[in-house]
Amino acid sequence: MRCPFCGSENSQVKDSRPSDENSAIRRRRICSDCGGRFTTFERVQLRELTVVKKSGRKVLFDREKLSRSISVALRKRPTEPERIERLVTGLVRQLESSGETEITSAEIGELVIAALRELDPVAYVRFASVYRDFRDAADFQAVLRELASDTHNPLSNHDLFADADGRPQTTNKPSSD
Ligand SMILES: [Zn+2]
Repeated sequence: MRCPFCGSENSQVKDSRPSDENSAIRRRRICSDCGGRFTTFERVQLRELTVVKKSGRKVLFDREKLSRSISVALRKRPTEPERIERLVTGLVRQLESSGETEITSAEIGELVIAALRELDPVAYVRFASVYRDFRDAADFQAVLRELASDTHNPLSNHDLFADADGRPQTTNKPSSD
């Protein structure tokens, strides 16, 4: 493995351990020439995927890029890194097993939006606003309304869309005893 710092191919594995719930192996490496330390991951790849961008340009699917954009959407949200890794692994599996070797960036984006919607409402709105290129407040309102109408989503239990009298709408009935 070529050293990312000096380009030398003399690196040594210092430590190797399972990661991402045993779906990957994480190796800590040290460069014998410059002493630089870096980490590599070994993962199962079911198939090579090509992403077709909006411009029509084709690039090799990049798991790290997907992982980064999801991490940005989840910044400062109470989601553990392992949970994010599991999400990314799940998305990649979905993409790899779709039967297609070419996939559009739009399809990936919608898949991420759907997954974030289940995971974290704030990250969902963040990602959707960037991805769908929101232009004004009405775009946000539309997506928030969509969220609030989704009974599976934690946001729908919050008071963001409270009744006119200010009380949150709730489906919890008082106990009868
Ligand atoms: Zn080096």
